[in-house]
Amino acid sequence: MPGYYQIMDYSNGVRNFSANSPVDKDIRVIKEDKNTWRIIPGKNSSFSISYDVYSDKKFVASNFLDTTHGYIVTAATFMYIEGHLDIPVTLKIMPFTGWKDITTGLDRVVGRINEFTAPDYDILYDCPILIGNLQELPSFEINGIPHRFLAYNPGIFNHDKFISSLEKTVSAAINIIGDIPYSNYTFIGIGPGYGGIEHLNNTTVSFNVDGLDKPGEMIRMLKFLGHEYFHNYNVKRIRPFELGPFDYNMENKTNLLWVSEGLTVYYEYLIVKRAGLMSDDELLAGIESNMNTSENDAGRHYQSLSQSSYDTWDDGPFGNKSGGTDKSISYYEKGPLIGMILDFSIRNATGNRKSLDDVMRFLYRQYYKKLHRGFTDAEFQQACEDIAGISLSNEFEYVYTTKEIDYSTYLSYAGLKITELTDSNTGKRKLTISRQDDLNPKQKLIFRSWSGN
Ligand SMILES: [Zn+2]
Repeated sequence: MPGYYQIMDYSNGVRNFSANSPVDKDIRVIKEDKNTWRIIPGKNSSFSISYDVYSDKKFVASNFLDTTHGYIVTAATFMYIEGHLDIPVTLKIMPFTGWKDITTGLDRVVGRINEFTAPDYDILYDCPILIGNLQELPSFEINGIPHRFLAYNPGIFNHDKFISSLEKTVSAAINIIGDIPYSNYTFIGIGPGYGGIEHLNNTTVSFNVDGLDKPGEMIRMLKFLGHEYFHNYNVKRIRPFELGPFDYNMENKTNLLWVSEGLTVYYEYLIVKRAGLMSDDELLAGIESNMNTSENDAGRHYQSLSQSSYDTWDDGPFGNKSGGTDKSISYYEKGPLIGMILDFSIRNATGNRKSLDDVMRFLYRQYYKKLHRGFTDAEFQQACEDIAGISLSNEFEYVYTTKEIDYSTYLSYAGLKITELTDSNTGKRKLTISRQDDLNPKQKLIFRSWSGN
């Protein structure tokens, strides 16, 4: 499942596999390995295959089906012909009795009911499908491009207020890159469950929020949705070399999930802040919270940020906390802090004429638009250094080694300071970020531009 960096045992859900041909009675099926079914036709004839898929888990990367709704994870459901991921696909859905709605990022086949098409399997696997009686929240357009929100059982809250905030969040994300690369975008709320996964023109998110009108809950949700939305740029289009085209049969390992996930966490704070939906204090509190989790993780002495990206297939998305001694970290926690350090370093070196936003725009134009490929570890660092106009080798040591982070230096570039206490009972470090009292003009400029004030 692209976007979920764990091996999912999807083939284990396949039952009753059969191959059928009206003219070939000798057709046979051999289950060649855990993940491959080989059809041996006796004659040179066409055939069809049929199988059931067990669907019982309420999770964005798993199939779910009951009498109320169905969520189809296409990568978990539709088999491909080995060596032929590039062929076009047509899909016909027959909804359960009484179900009126289908939503997916797939294109509809013009003139056909409940038929969808994809130019290849990569696009098919990028478009999960939600079926049932769905609620459509108010839609909005940005630069003439429609953005929709469809959900199963979204909960009770003020739809207009929520969508107005979501629109501001999406606009703030678009402003960072300056281009909208899709012709329509859909937020797909799969109801109660957990997780969110990004796609090229849609995201599927667990979404069932009765308390959404409470301010803290609204900010939490906007950060979550802003994160998944920003991924349409960072990881779906601005991507590490290894993350596409995918090998669906094995791990797709990269050192750069700290960029794809960590910087997306960093940008979720900035997007919601620049959308005007969060205060300075809430922005700093978000970063501070990452900092405290990261600095109290014993694994930071053992595993670098790049290693945590590469090893996530073994360690799990948040590091391996099991087995007593914790020797791993989470790129979701340390990654955004390194994003901030790179951002402040670039801003400081250029008198705030450049920032990490320029790096993201450069990667988008150079590797996605122009070269149609991902970037390597060295190309990412080079992009940061070219834009900063200085070497950032000290800063990239925080990526490739376990060196202790000198937060004070980097925070001071934006007129911020850090204080530290140690809890005498737990031994835990408590780090607090606050504004310095007297800021020089450069610090003022950097803070204002960074926070979008
Ligand atoms: Zn993410």
